[in-house]
Amino acid sequence: MDEKIILKDDLLRICGDVIDKGHILLCPVMNEYSIVKDFSRIKLDASALPAGTSFKCYVFPKTEPVLYYKRSKSDVQLIDVNIDRKNIVILGAKPCDANSLNIMKHLFNWDYSDEFFNLREKNFIIIGLMCSHYDEYCFCTSVDSSPVSEKGSDIFLIPVDENKFAMRIITEKGSEFISPYAEYLKTGDENISKQITENVKLPKVAFDSNEVYEWLGENFESPKWEGIGNLCLSCAKCAFVCPVCHCFDIVDEDYSYTEGRRMKNWDGCQFGNFTMHASGHNPRDIQSKRYRQRVNHKFRYYVDKFGEILCTGCGRCSRGCPVSIDIKEIVSNCKD
Ligand code: SF4
Ligand code: SF4
Repeated sequence: MDEKIILKDDLLRICGDVIDKGHILLCPVMNEYSIVKDFSRIKLDASALPAGTSFKCYVFPKTEPVLYYKRSKSDVQLIDVNIDRKNIVILGAKPCDANSLNIMKHLFNWDYSDEFFNLREKNFIIIGLMCSHYDEYCFCTSVDSSPVSEKGSDIFLIPVDENKFAMRIITEKGSEFISPYAEYLKTGDENISKQITENVKLPKVAFDSNEVYEWLGENFESPKWEGIGNLCLSCAKCAFVCPVCHCFDIVDEDYSYTEGRRMKNWDGCQFGNFTMHASGHNPRDIQSKRYRQRVNHKFRYYVDKFGEILCTGCGRCSRGCPVSIDIKEIVSNCKD
């Protein structure tokens, strides 16, 4: 691993160059990832909680056309869309966000390679930031991560003091990105940054994910699901703020009898119509079945399919739930 020291002012100079080159700079600002042009808005605060929303909409937009069509009596013509593929630099992603693309990548390359996701993801540079603060909803340490995890980051920052960071260059992509800025990088001392990361207070491990996996396999019909289902409003806010939830729907929108477009829109497994069949039959007709699906998908089915938990432990879904349903509590207490 290559470690350097960089002054905050020099990091901001690099950001200026990124913008001058026409790339997009995304930072957590005022509780969401925003496109930043005014550097005074960049805080790079390791003690801030994860922003209220993740950056997934920049790689997997809330809604987008995947093709256009024209129809005549004898023919249908399909017209490709131009996929926006600007370089995006994400500065200051907490570990629970930085690894989200790695987790989602499995789905978008499973039975079909989704070029929309892949072309964008290829052009992302993720500059992660160590996390020095957690609240009662955070549980990254229960899902194979931690506030100092470098997973998913191309470059990882550790604050040394108010004005400088230790910079770990993790991937080839990160190395290529930073190499033109060698003049700003000073030789680092791994012992200092190691000492800082070792002193970070970690959220207590709330559950053993292997035990949760086993329990889910044996308790599909548990009465616990009914209790949660009675509380849940089916609003799917939990899915929309989640950095790794990825349900989508495909809908054809006709402009006229002869023209239209095919749209890919975010969807959520908590919506009542999510599994509605054309026949009118709905296999997940009540909310308890839908919430059971959410937890099983994250902690069992995704593990079976891809060997990874579909959750980064960011706690956003619980922080934002209008009726205070807390996934950490549910999973931690499943066996009680
Ligand atoms: S945010 Fe809360 S109420 Fe809304 S669907 Fe999710 S768990 Fe249910
Ligand atoms: S399920 Fe909740 S805690 Fe897990 S990644 Fe999604 S929003 Fe974060």
